[in-house]
Amino acid sequence: MNVPPPYRDVTVGALLTRLAESIPDNEALVYADRNLRFTFAELEAEARLIARGLMAIGVERGERVALWATNVPEWVVLQFALAKIGAILVTVNTSLRAHEMEYLLQQSEAGTVITISGFKDVNYVNVLREIGAVGGDRLPNLKRSIFIPRGEETCPEDFMPYAALRDRAAEVTEAELDARESQVGLDDVINMQYTSGTTGFPKGVMLSSRNIVNNAYWMAQGLGYSPLDRLCLCVPLFHCFGCVIGVLGAYTHGACLCPIEFFEARKVLETVEAERCTSLYGVPTMFLAEMEDREFSRFNLSSLRTGVMAGALCPEALMKRAIAEMNLREITIIYGLTEASPGITQTRRDDTLEHRTQTVGEVLPEMEVKIIDPASGATLGANQHGELCVRGYNVMRGYYNNPEATAKAIDADGWLRTGDQATMDEAGYVRITGRIKDLIIRGGENISPKEIEDHLRQHPAVSDVYVYAIKSEFFGEEVGAAVKLKAGESATEEELKTFCQGQLARFKIPRYWRFVTDFPMTASGKIQKFKLREAHEEELSL
Ligand code: AMP
Repeated sequence: MNVPPPYRDVTVGALLTRLAESIPDNEALVYADRNLRFTFAELEAEARLIARGLMAIGVERGERVALWATNVPEWVVLQFALAKIGAILVTVNTSLRAHEMEYLLQQSEAGTVITISGFKDVNYVNVLREIGAVGGDRLPNLKRSIFIPRGEETCPEDFMPYAALRDRAAEVTEAELDARESQVGLDDVINMQYTSGTTGFPKGVMLSSRNIVNNAYWMAQGLGYSPLDRLCLCVPLFHCFGCVIGVLGAYTHGACLCPIEFFEARKVLETVEAERCTSLYGVPTMFLAEMEDREFSRFNLSSLRTGVMAGALCPEALMKRAIAEMNLREITIIYGLTEASPGITQTRRDDTLEHRTQTVGEVLPEMEVKIIDPASGATLGANQHGELCVRGYNVMRGYYNNPEATAKAIDADGWLRTGDQATMDEAGYVRITGRIKDLIIRGGENISPKEIEDHLRQHPAVSDVYVYAIKSEFFGEEVGAAVKLKAGESATEEELKTFCQGQLARFKIPRYWRFVTDFPMTASGKIQKFKLREAHEEELSL
């Protein structure tokens, strides 16, 4: 008999094998709304079958495999199947538009893309055709495009059906899979996630099993997980909140996952009630949407115990409501970023309410944090505002094919600069007090202003444009833009929005626009975005 969970210091692929050996009959993955249930033994068998199919079609160790899908069951299976064969799972934001997807496939040099038919108003199949992912030569590294059907959907002719992986598994033996898996090391990159930094275009964060399994382990320890826990997972799997804190957090401790294909407040409430979930995650806006559901009071949430609120500043009032109204008495806040695997700090379940609502908690075990003066790099004392830096096993392996950006983010001593402004008190509690990096966080989605500015600058009537955050009660922040038109040219807000449609993911298109004749600047010629923001918020009476 194997030692029971929790597990750490194992590869992602081996983690599932351990669970299948020690608690084979425990439920592992449940989709309440489609009556789909896997035990750990069944999930391991399915992941191994798909892994053999992937080997049969020629997916190699180290190959980047882009997965563009909502939280479908195949997503979780692929997370383990790809890890077992040492391929690198490149997670893709479900809101991307054609040119963003083309950039991602090109930059990651992906050999395979796996997709569903689409999400919301984006037809992924058409997008992939448009950018030459099937039947084109614009993506020379891309060898194959695989289609995951939902319900009765049929596979488009120019795609390989996901079922082919199952059919072709017989071409590879179990022993061949074991041999491949034995080559995969703890420090091999197995996951890449694209995140918007300050340089405009998203960068591929390279993460290893050591990074993410151990980080997930510590956060799950903080949640007090055991095989008795059941996590309702409504955050996207493409983000580390879903695939690390979610899937790996639950599985390091043998807990069961109950995912939802994409966030819908009502579905969350239904799933928690039907599956007696003990844990629930979300960015602040998700918890708010759940509590504001018209029928909130009819749901029995008494099974809930713990969970995670993260991804953006978590308002104290909202935390208190979640504790009181959703029975989330042991809910924790996690602060982190993709480059840190992601968790850096977490509040303790048994901390005072003040600490649990007003701070992002203490530094997780086995990593170091310091607060520095961003200009001089000097380490600051207790309660002083500065940039939070982290060092330890959880710091990413780097940005894919971007050594300059990696060198900017991680210094020679291994410290990762987060770009977040924070303080730490004498007792070690961290507060996030602002942002040094130029980033907008709208309901947990990171948005790089530069990417939007670069696009709008291509409009013939635009002389210059700056994009910044505008505060929002619901989303935390929304996107605002100040536009200076060229002399003698004209363009309306509607025209500029149309110019963005189809080119930028919908959540990135500015909600608030303002036409200006000049931009406020510092003496050294730097644009003062905070002044643009203040003026715009004043105009909007926010
Ligand atoms: P991502 O890389 O998408 O995980 O985004 C990371 C960024 O989200 C961080 O650098 C912070 O600016 C912000 N963030 C994450 N968690 C929190 C939190 N609990 N409180 C405040 N900001 C947060």
